[in-house]
Amino acid sequence: MRAIQMVRPEAGAAELQLDLPVPIPGPGEVLVRVAATAICGTDRHIYHWDPSLASMIQPPVVIGHEFCGHIQALGDGVRGWETGQYVSAEMHLVCGKCRACQAGNQHICERTVIAGIHQDGCFAESVVVPASNLVALDESVPPEIGAFLDALGNAVHTVQSARSIAGRHVLLSGYGAIGAMASAVVEFEGASSLTITEVSPTHLERARKWAAGCSGQTPIHIHNPAEEGEEWMKAMRDHTKGGVDVVLEMSGAKPAIDSGLEALYPGGEMMMLGLPSGADLVLANFSKNVIFKGLTMKGILGRRMFATWQEMLGLLKRGLRVEHIVTHRCGLEGFHEGIRLLDAGEAHKVIMLPSAGNPKTPISCES
Ligand SMILES: [Zn+2]
Ligand SMILES: [Zn+2]
Repeated sequence: MRAIQMVRPEAGAAELQLDLPVPIPGPGEVLVRVAATAICGTDRHIYHWDPSLASMIQPPVVIGHEFCGHIQALGDGVRGWETGQYVSAEMHLVCGKCRACQAGNQHICERTVIAGIHQDGCFAESVVVPASNLVALDESVPPEIGAFLDALGNAVHTVQSARSIAGRHVLLSGYGAIGAMASAVVEFEGASSLTITEVSPTHLERARKWAAGCSGQTPIHIHNPAEEGEEWMKAMRDHTKGGVDVVLEMSGAKPAIDSGLEALYPGGEMMMLGLPSGADLVLANFSKNVIFKGLTMKGILGRRMFATWQEMLGLLKRGLRVEHIVTHRCGLEGFHEGIRLLDAGEAHKVIMLPSAGNPKTPISCES
């Protein structure tokens, strides 16, 4: 089968393999034929051999962890699933035995193995996953959206980790793909206002285009702090009467984290999904902005297994719109170009359709 494999432990060493053996599902596992898969920020970090992930990967490994498809074969002992069924899967494989797992917090299992990082993933025509990680999808979910439920789950989990969103002022820093998804959820859930900060001109343009199509029930303010300096903070303080209640930090950038803490009203909450590129982070005005304001800061990893999945499918069913986040589609051949587009900020979500004969250059879905 064809698959994108990291072949050496170095930046850029991902290759399209044309003839890898189709994996065989072991006991309790299923083989899924991949209908659509999405390139994630994590894949970019792997591709560039970022130190934050490099130590976790031992090439050769097929990368990719966001996908949907149809069950192709069942391993021994698999019950309750049948071939042909439309599914996605949680690619965090957890131990089920550690204290986190036993407490119902499988998403932060200390022995998590991630398919597409520690073992073969889904940038392939077929992928093997444990049956216990499958999530059944309704045919009403288009494959292009089914392809990135993993990431949408991150966004939903981040938003839902706040005490509440409805009727509260929200600041979201970093309108990348997950930021765009989280913005859609915040708007859908009826925040009092949503302020978005972003520095990439193309992402800003996408944010503005999305906001222009929203109902207006939740006023959306979009700012570029790199250009506006402290002006955006003044404007935000003005319309929120003192500060935001919730920050959804999606960028991992130190200036955004510092200003997020600064922007919070006392008693506020900061949900931190963005991964700073170094191992350490020094926060500005920590005593004043965190302790004296009595803030809550929470790290967000993955999505709850499987409550977030079910809630996310419920939101989609109720009308949450996320199709605007898909900007490009291509075959596995388009992977390198897809990474380039994402690096350049020219794409939000690049969807790969692993069936043969797809074009090398991702096709833009933006009008
Ligand atoms: Zn991902
Ligand atoms: Zn565990």
